[in-house]
Amino acid sequence: MDQFPHQGGELLVGGVPLSRLTARVGQTPYYAYDRSLLRHRVASLRAALPATVKLHYAMKANPMPALVGFVAGLVDGVDVASAGELAVALDAGADPREISFAGPGKQAAELRQAVAAGVLVNIESFREVGELRSISDQLGVPARVAVRVNPDFELKGSGMRMGGGPKQFGVDAEQVPGLLAAIATAGLAFEGFHLFAGSQNLKAESICEAQRKSYELALRLAADAPMPVKFLNLGGGFGIPYFPGETPLDLAPIGDNLHQLVRQAARDLPEASLVVELGRYIVGESGVYVCRVVDRKVSRGQIFLVTDGGLHHHLSASGNFGQVIRKNYPVAIGNRMGDSATELVSVVGPLCTPLDLLADRMALPVAEVGDLVVVYQSGAYGASASPQAFLGHPAVREVLL
Ligand SMILES: *Cc1c(COP(=O)(O)O)cnc(C)c1O
Repeated sequence: MDQFPHQGGELLVGGVPLSRLTARVGQTPYYAYDRSLLRHRVASLRAALPATVKLHYAMKANPMPALVGFVAGLVDGVDVASAGELAVALDAGADPREISFAGPGKQAAELRQAVAAGVLVNIESFREVGELRSISDQLGVPARVAVRVNPDFELKGSGMRMGGGPKQFGVDAEQVPGLLAAIATAGLAFEGFHLFAGSQNLKAESICEAQRKSYELALRLAADAPMPVKFLNLGGGFGIPYFPGETPLDLAPIGDNLHQLVRQAARDLPEASLVVELGRYIVGESGVYVCRVVDRKVSRGQIFLVTDGGLHHHLSASGNFGQVIRKNYPVAIGNRMGDSATELVSVVGPLCTPLDLLADRMALPVAEVGDLVVVYQSGAYGASASPQAFLGHPAVREVLL
C-alpha cells in the first residue's frame, strides 16, 4: 500500500521502522495511525470540495481521543452518536456549534447533556421532540435541532445501506411535515436537515446522485420548516478501497456536483451551509493493525500463521462486520517488506473459532515466529468496533504518530 513506504525491509509508520515502533508501543497487537496521512487526506478533500462546504468527522469510525483531537483541528465539525462520543468530542476541543448528535434511541439523559453542551441534535423520532421540549424548559435554553430524514431513496452500491425503505434511522420523509409542526409547537430552535443514505461507496456518480436527491428532498421539506435552514447535512458515504480490483474514489466529480449544489443553495436556501460527514474516508487509510506471529503450523498441506491478534481486535478484517462475502484486507509481513520469495499462507488469530481469520490463502513473504503481520486500511471501524472481551485476551493498544 503506497501510503506506507518501507526501508531496509521494514514498513515505516509515521517514519518509524515497524520493529522500533513495536518496541516503543511495548506490546503487540496494536493499531498505529499516522498524523501526516490524516493531514494529507483532509487537504485533498479541501482541494476537491467547495470551500464553503463544511467537512465534518463522523467519529464513530475512530473515536481514539488523541485522534479525534487531531482531526477536530483539521475539519469544521464532529458528528457524534452517543453521549460518550459527545464527551470525547468536547474534550477534544471541537466547537459545540459544529457538533451534531445523531442516532436512533437517544435517551433523555443523553439529550439533556447535548442540549446543555449547546450541540445540534438530529431528531430521529417524535418522542425526541417531547423529551427535548421538557429539557429545554428545565435548562432554559431551546434545544438546537435538525431533522434526520429517512429518505425515499438509497445510496446505490453501498457497503451498508442506511436510508430508503423501512429503517430505524431518521424519520420517514412523508412524516417530516408533521414532525416540523411538532418542533415549532415545542419551541425548539430548528436549524436544518440531515440525510445519510449509505456508507462505503466507491462510485462517484452514485454519491453525486444521492447528494442531488438529498438536496431536492430537503428543499421540498424546507417549505414546511418553522425557521430558515442553516445546516443541510448531505451525508457522506465516501468509500476506500479494501479488496483487489477496487479503485480509489474519484473526488473530482463529487467536487463539481457540490459546486453546483452550493450555487443552487445560495439561491434557494440562502442561510444554509452544506455539510458532508465522513468517517472512514478521513481515517481508514491512515491506520494499520500490527500483530505478531506466535506459531507456524502446516495442516494437510496448508500453512497457517497463528498470531496474537484477530477478530477480537479487528472484526472488520476478519470479514464479520457487514461483509456478505469474506475477502482479504491487504496484509503484509511488516519486517520482511520487499522479500521476493512468497508462499501461500492463511493468517489466523488465537480465538477458538474458524471466523478468526485475518488472511485466507494469501501470497506473503515466508514468515517465522516473531515476525510482524500488518493489516492495512485499518484506521476505521477497528478497535472500537470489535468484541475485545471475546475469549479474554489482552486489549489492543492504539498509538497516534
Ligand atoms: C456511520 C455514519 C457516518 C460515517 O460513515 P462512514 O462510512 O464511516 O463515512 C456518517 N454519518 C452517519 C449518520 C453515520 O451513522
